[in-house]
Amino acid sequence: MAEVNMEELLNCALCPNICRCECPVLQVSGREAVAPSGKARLAAMLQHKQLNWDEPVFEAISNCLSCRGCTIYCPFTELSLCDELLNTRLAAKASGIRLPVIDPCISNLKNYGSPYGQKGGPSAAGKKGAEVLYFAGCTSQANHPSSIDAARKLLNKAGVSFQMIDEDCCGYPAEVWGDQELARQLAAENRRKIVDSGASILVTNCPECWLTFTDRYPVWEQDLPLEVIDGPTYFLRLLREGQLKPKKSEFEKISYHDPCIWARAAKKTDEPREILSLIPGINVQEPLSYGEQTRCCGGGSMFQLSFPETAEAIAERRLAEFPEDAVIVTACPFCREGLLQEGRRVLELVEILEQSC
Ligand code: SF4
Ligand code: SF4
Repeated sequence: MAEVNMEELLNCALCPNICRCECPVLQVSGREAVAPSGKARLAAMLQHKQLNWDEPVFEAISNCLSCRGCTIYCPFTELSLCDELLNTRLAAKASGIRLPVIDPCISNLKNYGSPYGQKGGPSAAGKKGAEVLYFAGCTSQANHPSSIDAARKLLNKAGVSFQMIDEDCCGYPAEVWGDQELARQLAAENRRKIVDSGASILVTNCPECWLTFTDRYPVWEQDLPLEVIDGPTYFLRLLREGQLKPKKSEFEKISYHDPCIWARAAKKTDEPREILSLIPGINVQEPLSYGEQTRCCGGGSMFQLSFPETAEAIAERRLAEFPEDAVIVTACPFCREGLLQEGRRVLELVEILEQSC
């Protein structure tokens, strides 16, 4: 289990909270306990045994979207508060403390390999041994399989030999909820299927899956022996190499929402915009905050299942930053789910691209 870095945690615990304006959970709740330095203080006190685990403490420490919004203003360049909070939460399992609301999701992960229950959407497809493995992720499968269809159509149109496996959840939600053992089990099962596929490239449009494969699988000793490429980079490559030739889009006014992980963890802010710039007829209007300064939609760290009311309030706050008459485009199934509120049209980048090809 990863160790908490006490020096960094104390830097944050003693900080006057200069990132407070960028922490979405603090902004919508107004609760100092869930402010970045408030959570760091609780985590530091747990480490010093000045505080014992109980449900309210676990709830406060879990109130982090891993959006990395705090890093915009944070003077401590080595500090990753969301990782320190994650490492802190992992210690809670030994005390038997958990969020009761996610019990059914944990059961679903154990029984079906998806937090949403019995798997929906496309499962295994394509030719075993094909070079490219497209990994859809459980959230797209459960909530928006149309984006998976769009990605498959694009790969077919580009003449890419690809395959899909009978996926399990990547393991990310289990770790977020403090069950690293279950996360490792899911990762091991996925790794077995991925190795067995014989693919040499894995492409995913889910930023949480991408981060889990590239950052968490090595920590869980489940390193993947193939190249993992994010969807925006891969589809841009197909466009640049002339394998996809977009024509005039039916969508004119588009506003792109940068998912936190693509923008701040993967630094992928240019690729989606270049894809949109290569589709004739599209006029991109940026929201108030964009690029690496993007604001979270409320979908990070499985908030839509763990804290649905907070997630909705954060999404409303983010939606107010977009032009009212623009179609919102994003590149993450969680963002799509969060921003899809009454009166707004929200699509994924692959769907916009596929429609024009
Ligand atoms: S994340 Fe950085 S800026 Fe925010 S309270 Fe902690 S130390 Fe201060
Ligand atoms: S990662 Fe996001 S939610 Fe978590 S403390 Fe930082 S700003 Fe707040």
